[in-house]
Amino acid sequence: MRTAPDRRAFLRTGGLAALALGAQGTPALGATGTTGRDTTGAMSGPRPADWRALADGLAGKIIRPGDASYDSARRLFNPTFDAVRPAGVAYCANPSDVAECVGFARRLNVPLAVRSGGHSYAGWSTGTGLVLDVSRMSKVSHTAGRARVEAGAKLIDVYDRLAASGVSIPAGTCATVGVSGLALGGGIGVVSRKYGLTCDVMESVQIVTADGRLLTCDANHNADLYWASRGGGGGNLGVAVSFEFRTHPAREVTVFFLHWPWSKAVRALRAWQAWGPSAPDALWSGMHLSRDGGMDVQVVGLYLGGRADCERLLDRLADAAGSPSSSYVRQTSYRQAMLTMAGCGSLSVTQCHLGGSLPGQTRGGRLSRDTFTAKSHMAYRPLSEAGAGSLVAQVARPGNHTVLLDALGGAVARVRPDATAFPHRAALYSVQYYAHRTGAATWARTAHAAMRPHFGDHAYVNYTDPELGGWRAAYYGANATRLAQVKAARDPGRLFRLPQGI
Ligand SMILES: Cc1cc2nc3c(=O)[nH]c(=O)nc-3n(C[C@H](O)[C@H](O)[C@H](O)COP(=O)(O)OP(=O)(O)OC[C@H]3O[C@@H](n4cnc5c(N)ncnc54)[C@H](O)[C@@H]3O)c2cc1C
Repeated sequence: MRTAPDRRAFLRTGGLAALALGAQGTPALGATGTTGRDTTGAMSGPRPADWRALADGLAGKIIRPGDASYDSARRLFNPTFDAVRPAGVAYCANPSDVAECVGFARRLNVPLAVRSGGHSYAGWSTGTGLVLDVSRMSKVSHTAGRARVEAGAKLIDVYDRLAASGVSIPAGTCATVGVSGLALGGGIGVVSRKYGLTCDVMESVQIVTADGRLLTCDANHNADLYWASRGGGGGNLGVAVSFEFRTHPAREVTVFFLHWPWSKAVRALRAWQAWGPSAPDALWSGMHLSRDGGMDVQVVGLYLGGRADCERLLDRLADAAGSPSSSYVRQTSYRQAMLTMAGCGSLSVTQCHLGGSLPGQTRGGRLSRDTFTAKSHMAYRPLSEAGAGSLVAQVARPGNHTVLLDALGGAVARVRPDATAFPHRAALYSVQYYAHRTGAATWARTAHAAMRPHFGDHAYVNYTDPELGGWRAAYYGANATRLAQVKAARDPGRLFRLPQGI
């Protein structure tokens, strides 16, 4: 028996309104500020006076080079992008601020990057122009089976605040991930097999579009944007300012962490991939194969029910994989389970944040940023014996890295591939190649290429991979064409511009 394990530490260490809204939108907002025209009438970049005017027009705050908190404000979760120096970071306090910033970027041709939790794998929530950060908008409330979550809320706060009402939403494991990036790209989590992806429980989203309008998007209003916002990926269509999600009851659950010796890796992998994606919906699991100091085979998971029933299901895995060398199975509250899965099992919610005084951080925050490189596949069929051997051989190569396989199926698979922009409904599990330190990028590239013949070309947009060839088809499959149509209609000037922009 091991001490209380944690999924996030595993990742970290390399082992793992202000405005009244109309459904059709309000007239264009953000129309104040200077025009940015020079004496010939041509558009120019922003002058110091333009930045001051923007700052004066916001209820929130802009942080610029030279300000005391600039170096903290410009950083993302991954220090790989620390060299990027934005001209300004705007902590918007409400949708009107967002519209002001969008208007500023549009009028003055300032590159715009939108940021919630700052976990973009590709660093696309920062840039050299204006970073529009939504972290100040982080309220979470619950009424009658619906959660209203503002766009800057961090996942651990969403779980914590909803737990007070005895409810939750399906979302990811990382405490500091922002709800926006997660939900807009899909959102795979530990109850997804029972309740779906985060985007599957999104009832509506409010978005400030490139023309500065604030739109409520749901099945009956702005349905094209609503569809595209459920899996199309953040940063593409506008700035989300709040979401409404369907909630589920958050009762006691059972968490488990099982380990096998490395010599059993291929057998355990083949057993897990047959068991995990076809287990009862109430059981979610992931397999981690890692080389980080030592070699490790781990199955981590959560069961929506009691310990005894969970153990009966785990026995079926052990029948096929062989007995684990160690196991930890514990029944606990839903809130504590989310802390545990986030690697905060022994921390308070306040501590389960990045430390600091900027929006989204807490002064007592104990979590730290993480330098990593990652790539992904979506596995539509199980690995053969040879495929499993290849994956295990890739993990065994020198370095500090982990392959994380997260089970899908269940409720995720019961949604049609074209019902939302997230297309991977038939995938059995997601595959992430996650590496640290020297040689990380080379390892990830080699492992990804070696597994392509086995997994094919599907990838998860939230594990954004700037090197990925054929990314449109890989991320979006047959939904790519419709996404491009929504983009052309809603942002014809391509104000929201990503290197892999729809
Ligand atoms: C340690 C770690 C653990 C993770 N665990 C999971 C997991 O369990 N499940 C899962 O599915 N994913 C997981 N992810 C991936 C995660 O979902 C993506 O990285 C996601 O894009 C992060 O969102 P963010 O808001 O934190 O990041 P950001 O970098 O702020 O944003 C990501 C993208 O969305 C855009 N964006 C941000 N806010 C908005 C907004 N308000 N409106 C429009 N666009 C916006 C950005 O411009 C950027 O392109 C994990 C990532 C990390 C680093």
